[in-house]
Amino acid sequence: MTFDEIEKYLKQASDSVAAMKRDLTTFFTALPDPFFILDTQGNYIEVLGGNAKHLYDDGAYLKGRNVCDVFTDELRDLFISSINEVVQNRELLICEYEIKPELLRTKCELSSHWYEGRVVPVEGENGEIAAVIWLAINITEKKRLEQRLKDLAEKDPMTGAYNRRFFRESIDQHYATFKRYGTTYSLAFIDIDYFKKVNDQFGHDVGDGVICHLVTHIQEQLRTTDLLSRFGGEEFVVLFPHINLDEACLVAERLRATIEMTPYKSINHKVPFTVSIGISEVRAEDESVEDILKRADSALYQSKSSGRNKVTGA
Ligand code: GH3
Ligand code: MG
Ligand code: MG
Repeated sequence: MTFDEIEKYLKQASDSVAAMKRDLTTFFTALPDPFFILDTQGNYIEVLGGNAKHLYDDGAYLKGRNVCDVFTDELRDLFISSINEVVQNRELLICEYEIKPELLRTKCELSSHWYEGRVVPVEGENGEIAAVIWLAINITEKKRLEQRLKDLAEKDPMTGAYNRRFFRESIDQHYATFKRYGTTYSLAFIDIDYFKKVNDQFGHDVGDGVICHLVTHIQEQLRTTDLLSRFGGEEFVVLFPHINLDEACLVAERLRATIEMTPYKSINHKVPFTVSIGISEVRAEDESVEDILKRADSALYQSKSSGRNKVTGA
């Protein structure tokens, strides 16, 4: 082979490598979902894809950084532990995670973005796991639909309080836990006093406004673990986990008093109203959930029959 021939051959080889590189770059850049190549220490070696700009932030700035510099505690732990798991198990790992908008660089109106991460190992020359490929798929819309379906199944559409079916499932679970571990809980039945008069005087729409106002008010006063559900028209039940009868009566009395002081206000009306409350606590001798429900109901009846705007414990 002459020198010229060698030179020509090398030139052709270098041209075809450059063309291949161009093709691969075009191909990777066109991919809608982004993927990241991370070393086993969590450093971003390469950022590729993510062409669907309405779904993804431009991740180019991540290159050269470490996940610990980019994410908050929880996400950082998820990324590091996922990488470690993939390195150890040498198989695909799928995880779901939420990224708050303050961590994204593009401006968006969503409160958060959800992603499905698909993480696979990349072998090095000696068979060791040298890196991982992390494909990130935006699943925010799917998550929103899931949440909507969950709400439709569990919540009352008018007030956003849990529905009776969800309440029933929760109380059954609490009853089973009580029977097994003795963990107490209490119930409060809450019914608006003389509500028919509200509807008659102000109309059904204002009546609906009063019901929604009551739910917002109660929810503001409860702990996140307390569960408020709409039991019927203007009757509600609160499940207080870990709370005994006396404590539940104190909380209910505070609720009753603040409801009396907080009338519903619409553009045209101011509607003061009161509630009657009946409380019961689960007991060792209870044979079923019906027993605690019946006690709360008869305590509510006592509050009504003794003048309304009252709390009775049973
Ligand atoms: P009491 O003090 O004995 O509870 O008197 P009350 O008038 O509140 O009587 P009751 O609890 O039996 O009446 C409930 C009324 O609530 C009857 C029904 O027309 C009305 N209601 C039920 N659901 C709704 C609703 O979603 N919106 C409106 N506006 N009214 C409702
Ligand atoms: Mg009523
Ligand atoms: Mg009622």
